[in-house]
This record gives sequence, C-alpha cells and structure tokens, in this order.
Amino acid sequence: MTKLFLILSLVFTFTQSFADGDYHYFVDLTKASNDKLTITLIPPDLTENETLFMFPAMVPGTYEVYDFGRFVSNFKATGKDGKIITIEKIDKNTYKLTPANAIKEISYEVEDTWDTEIKEKVVFEPGGTNIEDGKNFAINTHGFFGYFKNKIEAKFILEFTKPQGFYPSTSISNINCGLTKDVLSIYNYHDLIDAPIMYCKPDTTTIKIGNSKILLSVYSTTGLITSKFISRNLQELLFAQAEYLGGILPIDKYAFLFYFTDKASLSGSNGALEHSYSSFYFLPEADTTVLAQEIRDVSAHEFFHIVTPLNIHSKEIGDFDFNKPQMSKHLWLYEGLTEYAAHHMQVKTGLIEYDAFFDVMITKMKNARNFNDTVPFTKMSKYVLDKYKPQYPNVYEKGALIGMCLDIMLRYYSNGKYGTQELMYDLSKQYGKSTSFNDDDLFDDIEKLSFKEVRYFLNSYVDGNKPLPFKEVFNMVGMNYTETRTEEKITLGGISVGYNPTTNHLIVVNTDKLDAFGKKLNFKEGDEIITFNNRKLSLENIKEVLGGYMENAKAGDKLIIEVLRKDKNGNEKTKLLKAKIKPVAVTETDILELNDKATEQQLKARKEWLGIN
Ligand SMILES: [Zn+2]
Repeated sequence: MTKLFLILSLVFTFTQSFADGDYHYFVDLTKASNDKLTITLIPPDLTENETLFMFPAMVPGTYEVYDFGRFVSNFKATGKDGKIITIEKIDKNTYKLTPANAIKEISYEVEDTWDTEIKEKVVFEPGGTNIEDGKNFAINTHGFFGYFKNKIEAKFILEFTKPQGFYPSTSISNINCGLTKDVLSIYNYHDLIDAPIMYCKPDTTTIKIGNSKILLSVYSTTGLITSKFISRNLQELLFAQAEYLGGILPIDKYAFLFYFTDKASLSGSNGALEHSYSSFYFLPEADTTVLAQEIRDVSAHEFFHIVTPLNIHSKEIGDFDFNKPQMSKHLWLYEGLTEYAAHHMQVKTGLIEYDAFFDVMITKMKNARNFNDTVPFTKMSKYVLDKYKPQYPNVYEKGALIGMCLDIMLRYYSNGKYGTQELMYDLSKQYGKSTSFNDDDLFDDIEKLSFKEVRYFLNSYVDGNKPLPFKEVFNMVGMNYTETRTEEKITLGGISVGYNPTTNHLIVVNTDKLDAFGKKLNFKEGDEIITFNNRKLSLENIKEVLGGYMENAKAGDKLIIEVLRKDKNGNEKTKLLKAKIKPVAVTETDILELNDKATEQQLKARKEWLGIN
C-alpha cells in the first residue's frame, strides 16, 4: 500500500509539473541520427498572442557571435486542440509564433557544431556541441535549448533519455539520475546556459577542497587520458588556488569537463570555455608529460573565473543579452587579471620557479607587440565584437600585463600588504554574484580601496592610450627592465631546428633569420645535423652539447658541423660546414634583471609580490 501510494503521488507530481510556468525539454540521446538530435519542448504557459522563440546569437566568454540558430532545422510547432501555429523565421536565431497561447509543443532538430558541414564561422569547440552516437554528447546547453524572449526567468526542466551506463557530468546540482532517464532542473535560462553537460560513460574523480566538491570528468577518444591522471595533475594546483584565494573557495560545487580528441579540430584550435561553476575543455590527446603543464595553465585560468566575472562583473555581463550582446569596457579585468592570477598563483604558492614565471610574463610582452598598443584597452574591450575583433587575443597578453603592473603597484604603495589578490577579494565582497557594477564606476571603486597613483595608472594606461610603464613598475620591485638591447653574441647562426624521429637527427627547418655567422657556415633548410664539433648530436644530448658551446665558445675558435644534405637528384651526401666563430650583433627585447641596489621598500614589495620567504 505504502509503495503504491508513493507511486501514485509520484505520477501526480509528474503530471502536475506540466501545468506550470516551466520549460519542459525532452531529448532522446539514444535516437541520434546523422549527427542530429531531436529536441521537444512543452512550453511554459504563454498568455500573449505573439511570441519570439530564440536561440542565442552569442554566449558569455566566447566574445564571438556564433548564431547557434544556424544549427537548428525542421522547426515545428503544434497547437492545442488542433489549432494551427504560424511560424515565421525572423532571423538566423529567431522564430515568431502565433498564436503563442495555443502552443502545445515545439520540436526541432539540432546538428552538432564539432563536425558540421557549415564551415562558415566555425564554433570554437569548447563552446560548441558534439553528437557522437553511443559515445559522447557535449551538451553546451546554448546549442540545444532556446527561450521565449519574454520568459527568460522561468525554470527549465530537461529530461534526457540516455544509453545505459551514460552519466551527465555537470555543475547542475538538481539532478535525478535513473538507469535510462535523467531529469535536470535549472533555475532560469542564464543558469542553464552557464552549465554545460557532458554525457558519456563516466570516468570521473572528485576532489574535496574544504567544503567545495570539485568534479573532474574525462572523455578521451582513445582512452589515453584518464580522470586519475587529471586528478594527480590538478590536485596540488587546486589546493594552491584555494590558498591564493584566502583558503576558502567561493563555490560549493565545480565541474571540470574534459574532452580529449585524437583528431584535428574543425576550428583549428583547442582550449576551454569558462562558466561560473564549471569549465569545458577540448584538448588534444598528447603525450601526458607535454600536456601536464598546459592543462595546469588553462585549468588555473578557467577556474579563476569563479572570482571574475562570477563575483565581479558589470551590468553587461550580469544581465547578459544572448541575442543583442553588449560588451563591457573591462576585459582587462575579466580575462587579463584572470590570466595573470593563473600564473602568479603558481609562482606565489611555489608550484613554479621564479624564472618560469618571468619567462611567461616576458613572452606576453613579446606577444603583445603583435597588437595595436595605441587603442585604449577599455575601448578595445567595448568594441571587441566588431571594430577591434582582431585585438581580442591581446586580453591574454597585454591584459595579463596590466594585471601584473597593477599588482606590483599595489604591493609597492601598500608596503607589501595589499595586492590584486586582496583587491579582488574586496571587490567580490563589495559586489558579489548578484550585484553588477556600472562600467564607469569601477575605477572609482578601485581607487577607494587603494591609492591615487593606482587611479592615475588606470586612467593613463588602461583607459588611456599610453604603453605600459614597465620600467617604472619593475623599479618598484627592485628590478631593471630594458625594452631593447643590442649585444655582440655567439650564436648558432640563427637557424631554427626541428627533429627527425626516423633518423634521430636534428634538422634545420628554417633559415629565414640566418645571421652573418650562419651565412658563413652556409646552412641549408633540410640539413640533418650529424655531428657538432665532432660530437654526435641527438635529442638526448642536445642541451648539453649546444648549451656547452654557447657557454664556452670564444671568438676565433673553429666550429665544424657535419650535415647530411640532399643534392639536386635527391641523393644524400655528408658535408662539412666550417667557420671561425664570430660574434654577431643580436637585439633582444624585454630584458628583466635584478637591481642589486634596491631599496628596503622595493625589496619588501618584491618579497610580498612573489611570496619569497
Ligand atoms: Zn578566460
């Protein structure tokens, strides 16, 4: 009796739930055909005569208009009591439906973006969708589920019929998992789009940090990468991130969703997309030793987005318009400072050496030279979807360097006590998840928490068009910065070398930048290096042999390199390249050195900045 009663009451609540203001979506993952899935929607109560049903043009974090409606076809709507619903397609993403109050059901097909025939504007895979029958479904929700324009705040209930053994990895916590069916319930459309779901046979590991549960879910095409490997690789990093954020993570649950592929991606790139409580990764299945640091760097970056924009964001982001997106001026904060923190955290908590950290920052200085340095960063950010689109990648270069300069200045003027770590903490306390700031007020608020010099820096170098004052800023931490320096140096001739695994030889792959010494040696592209000053050269001893040469060689010494070179007929012949070593003028950019005459204040700032004990 009790059992029966329970079943009855379950049936009762089930049917009850349809007569409400919720969206009820149904997807059968066992019925994928031609890389397409059919989506059915029983809409929430609609009272109006005419309504707009939309798929997002853009979602937060991508900074690119993708028009997800492009992947939808066979859009149908049926009416209650046999009423005809008129459908008019307004644009790539929008359908006008009349009469809206008579809609019984909507259905459409969705094609995945990962291997679509639509080659125009390919979606960056971490923000795209995958329908791989029986194997993997990357449900980036914005690619599957639409919304009614005036009903974005309603609840979403997703019911998935799934292949047996499949599990939905996601940050969504309201899930009812069954053997063949799962029901997920989400507060509103913003939260739905903020939560991708990866369906596959589970390979998951959970790490607990304080009260936060971190899910690591892995799908690896050939099985090369496992969640155990990811967990070993990320555990230490995540603890360090918690330490960096003051010991407590501002989240209860977080999901890392990893898809590893053994094929080239359609977009030609790989990476990750962040959300408030999860991040989705599309990465190549590569040698794990090569992958390890890359995964750490990108995971650290995405995970730090739990600070900004989650807890520090402007109105443009807090109330994101999926179909008429407005950009904020502060990409230097959302992306730049996040990228900076991802690396700064690693050096400050001792996960990487100081030199490795400086190498990363110097590389960013060099990379930033490829972008426009005269347009104010705030302006670039505001118009990043159109006019300044090609400048977007600079948010990870100059944006991160703005973060570094700000951090150093804060440490200097606070005598070591205050940095971007504390600033971000204070700003997230002031705003938080549900309070958006006005774009124009942010610098005022930062000034109130810090110093007038910091305000001057933000005005001149972030809102203004001056190039970042590295010399002045590094001086604050007792370091000398030199923009360019030309010196006579012993070189390897200016060749780029690669490796031929079949012959185990290093190979000259590029001679475009051959210097005077290289020209004298007369390197040719394709030369396979056999011996270097009579020592056999291989991948194993390259560091020792070439490093030893760079350190010990003197002007006037002889250098003899034996190479294998193909002649006109394709026959390989050995050839001796000989020349007397002669230093050549080499110009280097972005040189950082310690200043041994640093003051107490500078040393204190450096110590607190880098966490030197
Ligand atoms: Zn980011």
